[in-house]
Amino acid sequence: MVSNASPPFSKILIAGAGPSGLLLALLLAQHNIPSLVLEAWPWLDTRLRATQYGVPATRIFRRAGLLPDFRAASIPKFPAICWRRVADGEKLVEIDMSIVEDEEDRMTVLQLGEIIQIMHKHCMDPEKGKGLIDIRFNHRVTGTGQDNDRAWVDVEIGDKNKGEEMREERIQADYLIGCDGAASAVRKSLFGHDWPGQTFDCRFIVQNVFYDGFEKHGWEGGNYMVDPDHWGLVARRGHGGLWRVTYGDPVPGLTDEEYLIRRDWHFKAILPGHPDPNEYRIEQTNMYKIHNRCVKSFRQGRILLAADAAHVNNPMGGYGCMTACLDVGGLADCLIGYYKGLADQSILDTYADVRRGIFLKYVDARSVKNLNRVAKTDPWTVKDTDPFFKIIEELNQDPTKQKLKEFLMKTSSIEYDFTQHYTKQAAVVDAKQGSGQDLEQMDVPMVEV
Ligand SMILES: Cc1cc2nc3c(=O)[nH]c(=O)nc-3n(C[C@H](O)[C@H](O)[C@H](O)COP(=O)(O)OP(=O)(O)OC[C@H]3O[C@@H](n4cnc5c(N)ncnc54)[C@H](O)[C@@H]3O)c2cc1C
Repeated sequence: MVSNASPPFSKILIAGAGPSGLLLALLLAQHNIPSLVLEAWPWLDTRLRATQYGVPATRIFRRAGLLPDFRAASIPKFPAICWRRVADGEKLVEIDMSIVEDEEDRMTVLQLGEIIQIMHKHCMDPEKGKGLIDIRFNHRVTGTGQDNDRAWVDVEIGDKNKGEEMREERIQADYLIGCDGAASAVRKSLFGHDWPGQTFDCRFIVQNVFYDGFEKHGWEGGNYMVDPDHWGLVARRGHGGLWRVTYGDPVPGLTDEEYLIRRDWHFKAILPGHPDPNEYRIEQTNMYKIHNRCVKSFRQGRILLAADAAHVNNPMGGYGCMTACLDVGGLADCLIGYYKGLADQSILDTYADVRRGIFLKYVDARSVKNLNRVAKTDPWTVKDTDPFFKIIEELNQDPTKQKLKEFLMKTSSIEYDFTQHYTKQAAVVDAKQGSGQDLEQMDVPMVEV
């Protein structure tokens, strides 16, 4: 039975129209909870970042009704993921992804820019967003506050680049969710610059590349490159021969121009056929510092943090956006339960504690292992020494590939079903609508692909 009492809140304020903010708004709208999303920029982010989202994230995409559009925009096949030694291009270990190609919840492959565009379209769709999602661009959050009844943000409104006169406004709602990314103004308003963790001593350089040598040399899918000087990921990412080449330059402290001068040297080492610059075309480049960090608490009263605003990890293994989706999927369940009278507001503390614990126990540790595997190991011996490679090799021994398939599709220890904390269980089915999750906690390494 769903409670007849009036809901304990009427609107959620979300800072940031990135994947986490838009996904949260969409999941809330499915349960008739209105939200206001504030985005600092006049547009949706187009920088080159995420491209692959593991099975746990795909399950949330399905639940949000996004999956058919993501699949339609994605490349039709992603046959394998392998780890290669840069020195001779030798494949060390390979995962055959073709065995899950008919599984609805298989990994999603699509550039983040396209993911966000589709999410935005769904939010604005009168049926999917139900007219409950208000997204305001050119609204930069500059500060936050709260009292017993309300949370608020101070916002700078307008487009400086167009010479618009900027104005300031205070916008309030029942709860504020900081989904405003790694440089989160919401997090800084709560914790200042206190964001425990580490920044890695390298520059991470990301580009979209067209090069017919990939096909010519039989490369497909995702290729993690193992080498202390040239580690990274080279993967097919889009239609028309679009590949994403990402690598870490281990020399710290250069200017961006100096890093770009070194790019041809990296490409010659990493790419099959060792091409000269005139043999490939680079379409877009972005550079990043990479970090593993987590905030001390995901909740302070009426203000909560989710996704990159709360925690970040280095991109090796694709944990960032996947974890972001699991954060907001879980938070949506908590807010829905509270809104419908199926849980009291303490479920928001449960969200904060559980998701932070999962980040620290699993995501942080595994993403550092992923980075070390490609950047810090001896490429000539890692095949025999790395425990993750051993697991894959053992799974590959099974000629039916059934065990590998189960491994690729299993429930991961980074997933968590917050509806188990609803105090009125009779309505759980309603809140889990379509999630189809059987969320047993398992302490086994998820496939780090
Ligand atoms: C090179 C690279 C590759 C990656 N690859 C993968 C991958 O393959 N798979 C994966 O799962 N993850 C990957 N990630 C991580 C992934 O991109 C992030 O985890 C994800 O984008 C986080 O989403 P978010 O919504 O929390 O933050 P963001 O995507 O950063 O979105 C935050 C939004 O908030 C807005 N904003 C910021 N400040 C304010 C403010 N003050 N007021 C209002 N709005 C504000 C921003 O403009 C932005 O639109 C990668 C990251 C990098 C850098």
